[in-house]
Amino acid sequence: MQPFTYVRAGSMDEALHELSQAGSAVLAGGTTMVDLMRGGLAWPQRLVDIGHLPGLSDIDASGSTLRFGALVRMADAAEHPVLKRDYPALVESLQQAASQQLRNAATLGGNILQRTRCPYFRDGVSACNKRVPGSGCSALDGEDREMALFGTSDACIATYPGDWGTALAAFDTSVELRSAAGSRVVPFAQFHTAYGDDPAVETVLRPGEMVTAITVKATPAGRKSTYLKVRDRQSYAYAVVSAAVALEMDGDTVASARVSLGGVASRPWRSADAEAALVGRKLSEKVALEAGEAAFAGAAPRRQNAFKVALGRRVVARATLHAAAR
Ligand code: SF4
Repeated sequence: MQPFTYVRAGSMDEALHELSQAGSAVLAGGTTMVDLMRGGLAWPQRLVDIGHLPGLSDIDASGSTLRFGALVRMADAAEHPVLKRDYPALVESLQQAASQQLRNAATLGGNILQRTRCPYFRDGVSACNKRVPGSGCSALDGEDREMALFGTSDACIATYPGDWGTALAAFDTSVELRSAAGSRVVPFAQFHTAYGDDPAVETVLRPGEMVTAITVKATPAGRKSTYLKVRDRQSYAYAVVSAAVALEMDGDTVASARVSLGGVASRPWRSADAEAALVGRKLSEKVALEAGEAAFAGAAPRRQNAFKVALGRRVVARATLHAAAR
């Protein structure tokens, strides 16, 4: 680990001032940033600890918009009574992420900033455009079982690893950002960027900017929602394939559908094709499977990950039927 300066911010103004200094990075729960620093994947000169800032650790679920302060712990959100009743997909995504110890420490704001688990990125030595721009991509001719089916580029084929982010993508979600220059709100669908030529850039977060809150527009579809995650082992593992589904039903007919995919794309991946295959139709196992097929119709499988297509179709179908049955 490289030497760095630790600064504990006592106020938002102090935090934003410190973050405006070159080479600064945010420390909150520490489960992402410390992991990256220990792995030699992040080298901040100044680490600005925002973990004690007031006003960022609350959940407001009382109005037409759910508001999650950036410092809310994953474990606390997973136990929130309104979320458990009205937004099971959000709760299930948190319950199935990481381990209980990590969920006790990790924050919701930090969680959406998780970086890929691509082994070539993490090993610190392989050619990797995400770690060292322009160095190449070892996964293109290497092990690609874990890699993405959607949103890849010639420069990077890695998956986005988050569960919470995948579930958020199935709702009308926004991210509130602050810097010394001011505040802005970014739709979650635009928060993570397409890989393009420079996969080292993963979000629209600017230097000196920090996540202060995540908001989700309240919807009756939340009650008929679920997050289904398939992984190589039953706990403490990233998704091989996951799906979040939120439905509004008119009797047996799907009035509205939101479907997002995890473990298969470069960023949280909303599937408009799956949604179109559901809306206006009387839900049945056949229709749910057709939605799964639509979700993966545009997939670009590689040598070792084509199994994700067949698996993903069934994950979407199962999640859809489960959500509707709620
Ligand atoms: Fe790096 Fe992306 Fe290639 Fe993995 S897939 S080695 S993260 S450039």
